[in-house]
Amino acid sequence: MLMERQWMYGMSLNDPEFVKGVDSFLIAAESNRVAKGDIEIFCPCSKCKNLKPFTDIKTIEWHLHRYGFVRKYTCWSEHGESLVGNSTSSHLWDDTRHLKPMEIDQVALTTLNAFHMFVVDSLDATAPQ
Ligand SMILES: [Zn+2]
Repeated sequence: MLMERQWMYGMSLNDPEFVKGVDSFLIAAESNRVAKGDIEIFCPCSKCKNLKPFTDIKTIEWHLHRYGFVRKYTCWSEHGESLVGNSTSSHLWDDTRHLKPMEIDQVALTTLNAFHMFVVDSLDATAPQ
């Protein structure tokens, strides 16, 4: 089990660590939903077991706080994580396989813009006055 996912199991469902962890899951699930252009997110709680989709992420949040996560779901494979390797950089390209060519351009453009902004901003910050 990944060290940073230990909060998912064996902890009280209202422990601050668990609450914080659920938040981080919801952010990952929501950004994966947006990246794929999906309307629904599958609920990984111990009752739905990634089989039931919901349009309202609040429902999933409520389920996770009430039921906890389904067993052995430390790699969020249904929510954009790759089972092989856990590097963040590979996620974007894993996700793009589900996208249509036009959407890939959109993703590439967004990445390029972010990169450009980052580089330009850092250049401005370090430029001699
Ligand atoms: Zn659920």
